[in-house]
Amino acid sequence: MSINPTVMAAFEQLGLYEDFLKVSNPISNSHIRNADAKIESSFNISDSKELVGYEYLVVGRSKLYELLLSRVPLEKIKPGKRVISFVQNKEGVMARFQDGTTTHGDILVGADGAYSAVRQHLFKELSKIGKLPKSDSKPLSKGFICMVGHTNPLDPEVYPIFKWNRGVCDTMISNNSPWSWLTLNLPGNVMAWSATKQLDSETFADMNLRNSEWGSEANEALIKEVSDFKTPYGTLGSLIDATPRSSIAVVFLEDKFFETWTHSRTVLIGDACHKQLPSAGLGSANAMQDAIVLANCIYEMKANSYDEVVAALNGYRDQQYDRTKKQCDTMNCLSPSARAQGIAKTMMYRPQIAFLPLIPNRGTADVKPQKPSAKYLEEQANVSDYEVAL
Ligand SMILES: Cc1cc2nc3c(=O)[nH]c(=O)nc-3n(C[C@H](O)[C@H](O)[C@H](O)COP(=O)(O)OP(=O)(O)OC[C@H]3O[C@@H](n4cnc5c(N)ncnc54)[C@H](O)[C@@H]3O)c2cc1C
Repeated sequence: MSINPTVMAAFEQLGLYEDFLKVSNPISNSHIRNADAKIESSFNISDSKELVGYEYLVVGRSKLYELLLSRVPLEKIKPGKRVISFVQNKEGVMARFQDGTTTHGDILVGADGAYSAVRQHLFKELSKIGKLPKSDSKPLSKGFICMVGHTNPLDPEVYPIFKWNRGVCDTMISNNSPWSWLTLNLPGNVMAWSATKQLDSETFADMNLRNSEWGSEANEALIKEVSDFKTPYGTLGSLIDATPRSSIAVVFLEDKFFETWTHSRTVLIGDACHKQLPSAGLGSANAMQDAIVLANCIYEMKANSYDEVVAALNGYRDQQYDRTKKQCDTMNCLSPSARAQGIAKTMMYRPQIAFLPLIPNRGTADVKPQKPSAKYLEEQANVSDYEVAL
């Protein structure tokens, strides 16, 4: 996956940036090609280095997870806990897990993706009391089916792109079929690929019915359909042949912007409240920005009271809602070139973690100014006083 440079200053604050560079490749170019894999237009993505001081980086999803996991104390993570419901009131919030256990806290953050159980439970409760906006009761809109995978390491002598240590994204678009497909070289001589089919409403209804029965047979049928598609590296079929079947996934691509992001002590972030199509390559950066802004709002709370919790969660939504909505409303309707320009405009917004030393602007483009947290500065002054006293 590609990670938008707008979160790299936060990676730097967290001491993750240098290690992230080791497992990722900067993306230099993005080409739009026709079905014969001939270039129709190209964008130089490495411009972002000059503009914001960081490049787009492409990384295998598992490598990013490994890096993030390596920085979180193990005792803070409880694997295998699936939230199924929760209760909240002025005193606190209690989450229930599928294994029958529960946990209590002051705030419940639903960072559980597009099919968020936290969102589903919250919306059920809000609906019962007539507080759910009508648009939030509608399901996510499925328009595409997408098969994704990544090959085993390939021979750089056969695929010289791997000698270059920079990523190149190639998107092939068919003029006379509902398919587009993509290749992106990852570190470790691995090629990521995907093939996406736009669904008409009838096919979608049929697939939706069969969704629960989706299995390897259906995957094989899709593989057959896309095998002859041309890429800059031979046919898509040749890349699929170099991909372990276990690392091929088929997903519906959906989008939906929800109005309700928070109620009482519960708050939603990332895909749980704004699911975008992956073509914009903004989903993970948006989710991380949500996390940064929410953490900043929680940090600024003066007390642990119910009113302070509600104010902090609403403060997060106030900061993130308009910008994300505008992005979701426009990005999906744009052509690839207009989308590239749209993405460039998102670069101004690069929130940092307010309670860590801020990283200076490293690029030439304006950055939305961020005031250092008064609480953080005060805490730092107290630490210095204490050190002097010692
Ligand atoms: C094919 C594809 C390609 C993409 N490519 C890119 C890209 O190149 N760049 C980019 O920026 N974005 C990309 N995206 C989008 C990006 O993956 C998402 O926007 C991003 O992962 C959202 O992060 P999140 O934390 O909100 O949700 P997720 O990443 O979905 O994480 C949700 C987490 O919650 C857990 N969970 C789910 N239910 C429960 C439950 N009931 N209880 C407890 N835990 C639960 C899940 O196991 C998961 O760990 C792509 C998406 C797809 C489908």
